[in-house]
Amino acid sequence: MGKTVLSVENLSTFYKTDKGISRAVENVSFTVEEGEILGLIGESGCGKSTVAQSILRLIEYPGKVVKGKVFLHEKELISASEADLYDIRWSEISVIPQSAMNALNPVHRIGEQIMEAILIHEHVSKKEALDRTKVLLELVGIDRERWKSYPHEFSGGMKQRVAIAMALACYPKMIISDESTTGLDVLTQSQVIALLKDLQRKMNLSIILISHDLPMVTSISDKIAIMYAGKLVEWASTDDILHDARHPYSRALLDATPDLINRDKKIVSIPGTVPNLVNIKSCCRFHTRCPFAFERCKVEEPELKEVKPGHFAACFLEEENHELTYTS
Ligand code: SF4
Repeated sequence: MGKTVLSVENLSTFYKTDKGISRAVENVSFTVEEGEILGLIGESGCGKSTVAQSILRLIEYPGKVVKGKVFLHEKELISASEADLYDIRWSEISVIPQSAMNALNPVHRIGEQIMEAILIHEHVSKKEALDRTKVLLELVGIDRERWKSYPHEFSGGMKQRVAIAMALACYPKMIISDESTTGLDVLTQSQVIALLKDLQRKMNLSIILISHDLPMVTSISDKIAIMYAGKLVEWASTDDILHDARHPYSRALLDATPDLINRDKKIVSIPGTVPNLVNIKSCCRFHTRCPFAFERCKVEEPELKEVKPGHFAACFLEEENHELTYTS
């Protein structure tokens, strides 16, 4: 691992609603190192995609980033001008969006769509853009001459590969994959994930991999950040999350996940649902679902603290030296 590429500091993004303020993301902090894959996981509605959109400054009214900083190398993105952001997006950081394969324009050849991304952001000739498009297609495992094909001539998995090639069009060093394998069949999903891992090695890419699919994320991530109800509740190496998770929500997610090796493992689903974040009071947001909750959890918010080197968790039990006993 190298130096820090992305640093997110106390990021908070709220939405105005008829009923009050929804605290969709609050005080989220983490870093991503050079060549690192960070898996960002949690149930849907926990704020993962809002974090991605906030980093890229794509939050629209009634949403707003109300606090925090995001450094991409030394550049601060939240206060950057639109002109600076225009240069940074694609060339330094890009995104493989949700339903990326549906984002391709059906009436244009796939090569033209990748070329367009290059030509908009870089001063290169059409020939240079086409040459690079062919290289990018080969990089994602598609025959370079298929640049002439239209999206409808490709399978879902191949369209997803095109979306990855497009995200790499200006050779950014940081990529955010936002649920980009959701909707693919299991085989295609594992091929796309293997491709991302391969590209990360070849290009020393830093990747934030957003998903609710814990086994998929743990299979390729170096570190895992777990979000619950807009807060980061645990952040550690993948090994620590799998074998020494400290937050009850992290453990609950693990307990709710089937184990392909240990097929006798008892699956325990998490009772209840993610709370409504509109006008939410100060508390541990997991307290209504947590088997260990006590009075303090209902009135005070635990902060993310380092519980051992490089391992952070936000739970009062860490301060109380409480021994956790779990179902598995
Ligand atoms: Fe459970 Fe309390 Fe820890 Fe929250 S702070 S996870 S409610 S024990």
